[in-house]
Amino acid sequence: MNKKLEAELKSEIESLREQNLLWLPKTLNGPSSARTKVAGKDVVMLCSNNYLGLANHRVLRKAAITAIKNYGAGSGSVRPIAGTMDLHIKLEETIAKFKHTEDALYYNSGFTANSGGLPALLREGDAVVSDELNHGSIIDGIRLSKAERHIYSHNNSESLEAKLKELTGRAEKKPNRILIVSDGVFSMDGDIAPLDRIVELAERYDACTYVDDAHGDGVLGENGRGIVNHFKLEGRVDFEMGTFSKAFGTMGGLIATSKTNKEYLLNKSRTWLLTGSHGPATVAASIAALELLEKDDKLVRKLWRNTRYFKKRLKSLGFDLGNSQTPITPIMTYDAEKANKLSVRLFEEGVYALPIVFPMVAKDKARIRAMITAEHKKEDLDFAIEKIEKVGRELQLIK
Ligand SMILES: *Cc1c(COP(=O)(O)O)cnc(C)c1O
Repeated sequence: MNKKLEAELKSEIESLREQNLLWLPKTLNGPSSARTKVAGKDVVMLCSNNYLGLANHRVLRKAAITAIKNYGAGSGSVRPIAGTMDLHIKLEETIAKFKHTEDALYYNSGFTANSGGLPALLREGDAVVSDELNHGSIIDGIRLSKAERHIYSHNNSESLEAKLKELTGRAEKKPNRILIVSDGVFSMDGDIAPLDRIVELAERYDACTYVDDAHGDGVLGENGRGIVNHFKLEGRVDFEMGTFSKAFGTMGGLIATSKTNKEYLLNKSRTWLLTGSHGPATVAASIAALELLEKDDKLVRKLWRNTRYFKKRLKSLGFDLGNSQTPITPIMTYDAEKANKLSVRLFEEGVYALPIVFPMVAKDKARIRAMITAEHKKEDLDFAIEKIEKVGRELQLIK
């Protein structure tokens, strides 16, 4: 072990600790569900992305067990060599059917879809125009590309149009291809990108579109098909990227697109070519998740009923919930110390919700973030609301 290295790393860790930015992840002592045990304590879970309760759903568990019986525990290889099982193909067909696209490509995670897909699409001489609040995996994907980079103001179509006008009106160095990239639902505020306006502008300026629907999958659109379905834009978005790690309850990234775009992406994404593929259990459970949603939108409707109930009650108590339009519910404190205190006190009371502070959001936009799921019973929500009210008064967030 190199002592100098360790001393340097230790001092960086201390600096994070002093700024209150050090992660000390708590451990779950059971499944990810609405009521579970965290760090030995029984809690109502308010910070999981398991929107539909699929992570521990009977149907997905059964599909995973059957797949292990028939195919084993691992895939044995990367996808291009010997790691493509008929299960992987069936999953991609199921994604395409669910998303109403020609085809789809399954990656190991949403992160690797963005960090491998974007640099494959963005070559030297191209330009990318990206929302300022896009997810870190998009930022990394763009950093790995050779294209020129432009950032537009958050959800601001005038700012986007100004960039497109400048790029397409150039006499020299006009980019070959322009790709507009946006999150569908923004994970810190729960607001929805104006994808209808973005697509209109893309069509007007002959640009391409790439939307990251990690928090829209399973949440927006009919049967949870996502943001493109929500805005009735099917067939007009080039790349619909998403994840299985949130509402779909398992693991893996997806890009739903045309057959040609898929064939190109799988040949050029290093994060698809050079990493072992997911094992049978994950893939089979992912298929089961989409088939379940295809058949029945009951869970999606329950998610929205719970969301409306929770937000209405908190609003009537006087809490400030920011600009959320989705089950992501920020409870604004505008102060990092208050956000941390609120989270610590709620945990003591049996409610698990995490603070969101700088650098995840601006310094004056601190909050805790509550994630509502279809699995929460009315009693769970009432319990959480009662505790949030109690601690909110202690911290003088409400009167
Ligand atoms: C969670 C998330 C990802 C990463 O997805 P994983 O499948 O968990 O790697 C990408 N983009 C956004 C917007 C996300 O919220």
